Amino acid sequence: MIKSVKRCSKCGETKDTNKFAINNAMKDKLSIHCKRCMAEATRKSRGLDDELTTKEQSILLKYLPYAHEGTQILSKKPDGLGKEDSIPLTLADISRDNDITYTQAQQMLYKFTRLNLVTMIIQSNNDGGVDTLVYYKKDNVINHVFHKKDEANAKA
Ligand SMILES: [Zn+2]
Repeated sequence: MIKSVKRCSKCGETKDTNKFAINNAMKDKLSIHCKRCMAEATRKSRGLDDELTTKEQSILLKYLPYAHEGTQILSKKPDGLGKEDSIPLTLADISRDNDITYTQAQQMLYKFTRLNLVTMIIQSNNDGGVDTLVYYKKDNVINHVFHKKDEANAKA
C-alpha cells in the first residue's frame, strides 16, 4: 500500500504526499522536503541579481554603490540605512537623470524599498507640494566617489 502522508524533514510537519515533489532518486520517489519548504529555500537563495532587471540594477548601482560586491549584488540591508547620515535625492531627480517617467521611478524605488535598499520619506516642499525623498547611506556614496576619482587619476 502506498503511504498517503509523509513527514517533511525540514519543517517537521506530516503532510499529504501530494505536498511533496516527485524525486525518483528517493526510495519512496518523493522529495524529503515538502513543496512549501522547497519553495522557501528557492526564494531565499535568490539574490538581487534575480529580482531586478538590468536597468534597475544599473540605476541601483549608480545611487547605491554599496549594494554591489564582485559580480553579485548583495541583498543585505546596509548598516546605518535611514535618515541619519544619509543623502536624500528626490524621485523627480531619479526620473530626470535616468530618462524614465516619474511613475517608473516611483515603482522602481518602491521595489528597492521592499528589498530594504533605500528608505523613502514623503515630505512637503517649499512650493506647497510634496517631494518623495529617497535616503541611502552616505559613507558608501563617498567611497564610490573616491573610487571613481581613483579611476580617473589612473587614466590621466
Ligand atoms: Zn516542510
